[in-house]
Amino acid sequence: MYCRSGNDGPQFPEMPIADYLRMARIFVGLGVTKIRLTGGEPLLRKGLVEMVRELALMRTVDGTPLDIALTTNGHLLAGMARPLADAGLSRVTVSMDAVDRERFARITRVPNGYEQVLAGVRTAQRTGLDPVKINCVLLRGFNDDQITAFGRFARDEGVVVRFIEFMPLEEDRVWSPQIVVTLDEIVWRMAEFMPLQEVAHAHSETARRYVFEDGIGEIGIIAPVSHPFCGHCSRVRVTSDGKIRTCLFSVREHDLAALMDSGAGDEELADFIRDVVDDKEARHHIGEPGFVPASRTMVHIGG
Ligand code: SF4
Repeated sequence: MYCRSGNDGPQFPEMPIADYLRMARIFVGLGVTKIRLTGGEPLLRKGLVEMVRELALMRTVDGTPLDIALTTNGHLLAGMARPLADAGLSRVTVSMDAVDRERFARITRVPNGYEQVLAGVRTAQRTGLDPVKINCVLLRGFNDDQITAFGRFARDEGVVVRFIEFMPLEEDRVWSPQIVVTLDEIVWRMAEFMPLQEVAHAHSETARRYVFEDGIGEIGIIAPVSHPFCGHCSRVRVTSDGKIRTCLFSVREHDLAALMDSGAGDEELADFIRDVVDDKEARHHIGEPGFVPASRTMVHIGG
């Protein structure tokens, strides 16, 4: 409900899969080792399984297979987890903003969606997509009463639940500092259920990692608002229409697709990417007086 107003349809075109794959090949040649397929909703895209199969054939500059991840709303996952795993997908992240059936239906506007998504999560686990992560964006007064329920869910289902601080990237522009449920608050509110202990996380990892004190269940907290991690950010995004975004909050995009369509060779495309990445934003300016909203909302960036 916060992510999409429900009034707007698709706003940006998609490219042929071959074009995404050509771009991916060039990025990988420049040292990218991990590719995450997002959306909109990637499971709606025809040819996705074949695309994953092609990505799985690529090798990093060190000669190892790519780490291929996917973020989905999970509604079609039960039917697609197996073909995707067989094609070479490494792991999957499912967006769920509640673990209560009715609340889930209200947030997603899909009746009985909870059962469907839960079936998708369980199928993904059975197919060996590991780890299965659940992303939950908490909004005060909207779903922050779900914190401990998610703690139980992480333990019962054997998934990593990750809470993400709400960023001003939504279609409805409802963000305010007061609506953000911060990392510190999540940790102390989870302690009402069972205390969390922080464990080490890799520098480039966005999530701080926690385990419950009895060792069962993992929680991640992604805190771009209260504990920004931009200094370690190594992400580059390519949109459905082939534009490069060097930050979630970019106000400027770089048209890789147009350059490709003009007949540029791989070397020229690689030079373009290098120049664009050299100019990457140092950090976001959430909550600062001069904050300028990103030129696309999250649903059109993909996470
Ligand atoms: S630099 Fe931009 S994309 Fe990277 S972590 Fe900061 S806000 Fe996110």
